[in-house]
Amino acid sequence: MANDARHVVVLGIDGLRPDLVTESNMPHLAALAKDGTWNRRHTTVFPSETRGALTALATGATAQVNGVAGNQFYVRGTSPDQVFTETTHDWWAADERLAGNLVKAPSISEVLHQAGRPFAVVTSSGPGALPALNWKGQQRGQTGFNVRHPQIGYPHSFAARAHRSLKIPAGGTSADGPMTAFRVFEREVWPYDKPAASILWCTEVDSVSHLHGLQSSQLLAEMRACDDVIGELRAWRDAQPERDSITLFIVSDHGHVTIGGTVNVADALCQA
Ligand SMILES: [Zn+2]
Repeated sequence: MANDARHVVVLGIDGLRPDLVTESNMPHLAALAKDGTWNRRHTTVFPSETRGALTALATGATAQVNGVAGNQFYVRGTSPDQVFTETTHDWWAADERLAGNLVKAPSISEVLHQAGRPFAVVTSSGPGALPALNWKGQQRGQTGFNVRHPQIGYPHSFAARAHRSLKIPAGGTSADGPMTAFRVFEREVWPYDKPAASILWCTEVDSVSHLHGLQSSQLLAEMRACDDVIGELRAWRDAQPERDSITLFIVSDHGHVTIGGTVNVADALCQA
């Protein structure tokens, strides 16, 4: 491989609303933005749901072009007519129903494979994030792993090594998911493959925002945990001989709406 080969590492923090990012709660991200660049007009696709947005990230195309219109959606003329994307089985079942045409746009996994360069995705998300980001990557010899659902890791030699090295239980780990995903990349992906592109996707801070809300202390704690991963990722990059050819991107897929209170719909209708 040429010495001038470039590498891109994308770290995705699910559900991170940009207006919540401050120097005090995400110091590493703020420092990276200061030393690098911050895309103020970066926006997600519509509808702004995780697995539609991840498919858009992997294909560089909107739902109208790539065919994945969100976490679940209807496709006219198929039976059943609803497509789910929560598990890998959902993806493959829908692809079978749609005659291999679930994802209609070429993905980064496919493009890099054609160029003879490796691509890797390591997630700590629900099982459907991996096929969204690395659709059919296993068939192309690309790398995929989910620290919470390690049964769907590939190739097997890498997945077995990651299990042993990171002491990930057969049933997966949910504690420190984002940092564990980074460690898998750092120890078991990069030294072996030096992928042209890698995506590390964290389920946080989305889960904690759903569970506890935007003003919660739990959200702040998860933001700091993800920020620690950004700090480790940057330190890792700076320690590599190839550091000048490694570009880091920190991205998210959507935010969360601000809720000022709740309404009992039945009571409100009765009163009206
Ligand atoms: Zn999301």
